[in-house]
Amino acid sequence: MSRLFNIGSLCTDFVYSVPALVRAGETLDSSNRQVFPGGKGLNQSIAAAKAGCEVIHIGAVGPDGDMLVECLETHDVKTNDIHRSEVASGHAFIQVDPTGQNAIVIHGGANRHLPRGVWEHALARMTRGDWLLLQNETNAIDEILYAASDAGINIAINLAPADVSVRTLPLQLATLLIVNEAEAQMLSGCADIEEAFAQLRTRYPDTTIVLTLGRQGLQFQDVNTHQYGRLSAFKVQAVDETAAGDAFVGYFLAQLVAGGALKIALEFASAAGALAVTREGAAPSIPDRSEVKTLVREQGSLEVIAGDGA
Ligand code: ADP
Repeated sequence: MSRLFNIGSLCTDFVYSVPALVRAGETLDSSNRQVFPGGKGLNQSIAAAKAGCEVIHIGAVGPDGDMLVECLETHDVKTNDIHRSEVASGHAFIQVDPTGQNAIVIHGGANRHLPRGVWEHALARMTRGDWLLLQNETNAIDEILYAASDAGINIAINLAPADVSVRTLPLQLATLLIVNEAEAQMLSGCADIEEAFAQLRTRYPDTTIVLTLGRQGLQFQDVNTHQYGRLSAFKVQAVDETAAGDAFVGYFLAQLVAGGALKIALEFASAAGALAVTREGAAPSIPDRSEVKTLVREQGSLEVIAGDGA
């Protein structure tokens, strides 16, 4: 059976309830602190595992990383390739005020210190049919892209979060590129989303591209069928948009690993993203496979609402 190898971040989210977001020079007492496992890598591994995929997570944690590794193991994600670093695990300090506004400081920590030998060892074990998944929260993305491409591996990259540095990544080597609206704008340098998508299609003609647009659905370019088009979103009551993208990416890759056609994979992924926004939180909002199947069955086949270009 084919597998998903996810080289991705693991992060501890410390969430503080504060009377107001702290200002320069000010010290504030928080009334509550909650600790959650997070990081796009961890969330996407959990989503793919919930979708029924065999997932091998490759990453790094510090001496404080037991909770993160245990969280993945609870969801049946393989953790033998998680490196134990001297550097503290990646973490985020999140202030939330009574109106729900937040302010976040993140520290990449061990996520930015993944040794070459660890990811090389993982790539060397990959076989035909396996997929490699990357995000933009770990180090050596360009080196990994070159090495995986040389080895003929199927590469998916979710370019999150995006800053100007992503413009110089060798993304033409990726089999599949997944971006949201802000990431497409950052990567293309175009504020207009239609222009941004057109620009990416021209720049990466040999890469399947998925541009997710929240409740507007998505646009895609399929290099295998030479189709591009739009897909609508499932209709749900949104409560909290956190982790929609992570649920989407995990479910999408799980379908591709299972050999599913692009359109079917996009449909399952869209259902997972839609369900994730109906509940609070990140990892806990990622739906189970049965819920995703039910939503796909209930709302039927999503419409391709434009496209079919050459
Ligand atoms: P990100 O979290 O990376 O910004 P998006 O917000 O674009 O990603 O969401 C990813 C996918 O999840 C969308 O393409 C869509 O299918 C689904 N989705 C997200 N928000 C909603 C929503 N409010 N209603 C229905 N589906 C949604």
